[in-house]
Amino acid sequence: MIKIRNVSKVYKSQDKRIIALRDINLDINKKEIFGVIGLSGAGKSTLIRTINRLEEVDKGQIIVDGVDITSLTKKELLNQRKNIGMIFQHFDLLSSKTVFDNIAFPLQISKVNKQIIYKKVNDLLELVGLSDKKYAYPSQLSGGQKQRVAIARALANDPNLLLCDEATSALDPETTKSILLLLKNLQQTLGLTVVLITHEMEVVKRICDRVAVISDGLIVESGKVDDVFFSP
Ligand code: ADP
Ligand code: ADP
Repeated sequence: MIKIRNVSKVYKSQDKRIIALRDINLDINKKEIFGVIGLSGAGKSTLIRTINRLEEVDKGQIIVDGVDITSLTKKELLNQRKNIGMIFQHFDLLSSKTVFDNIAFPLQISKVNKQIIYKKVNDLLELVGLSDKKYAYPSQLSGGQKQRVAIARALANDPNLLLCDEATSALDPETTKSILLLLKNLQQTLGLTVVLITHEMEVVKRICDRVAVISDGLIVESGKVDDVFFSP
């Protein structure tokens, strides 16, 4: 589903050059949960953000469902992004909007009919187990609940790919477990492909099918989780 080919990325800040990605090649299959693990500064965030082009690459291609993301016009990219949901470490909800309106937001931008939005948001709330928080504001929610709202919002346009940027790093271990379980359920019930980045081995061991280890912008190992992290 995703083919990352010879991708390199250099940040230029003032007179410094920071090489964030060095000739990365990766294949991510449809309907798998793929993890990228590495230390802070290894290039994980840069890598996952190239998949929906929140970050531009300097070299290489990112092919998602046959479409080379790196060669799209701005307009084509906005359209393509409906197919790619994303969630973040700090949830990035709109604090002045209710849970309902946060989830409805991407649908409103897509100019979906009000009746359909109402039904869709209620379905999504049920899917993530938050129907009773419909009219709450983000500040009234726990971290786990906020991430559930963010997941519902990310799924509003029915994407088949979900990108998770350190999605459980701000959560305690129990909440992390419940969010990972939700992601696993979504992968199975909706047939989602999930790409996640994390610095925590537990996250990878708990839900990933395959994993790549990134260090200093290089993929140093990749394969099935059991093969990469042998645990007796
Ligand atoms: P990770 O997600 O694994 O912590 P990042 O992708 O955030 O790694 O960062 C990779 C490298 O690129 C780091 O050395 C980081 O300092 C640098 N970097 C990230 N974003 C920028 C930026 N906007 N400008 C300059 N350097 C950056
Ligand atoms: P989740 O159920 O999504 O995993 P958490 O584990 O973070 O969420 O929270 C467990 C439960 O504790 C929640 O369902 C919620 O009812 C309650 N809770 C925790 N913190 C808060 C808060 N700040 N405001 C309201 N309820 C909270």
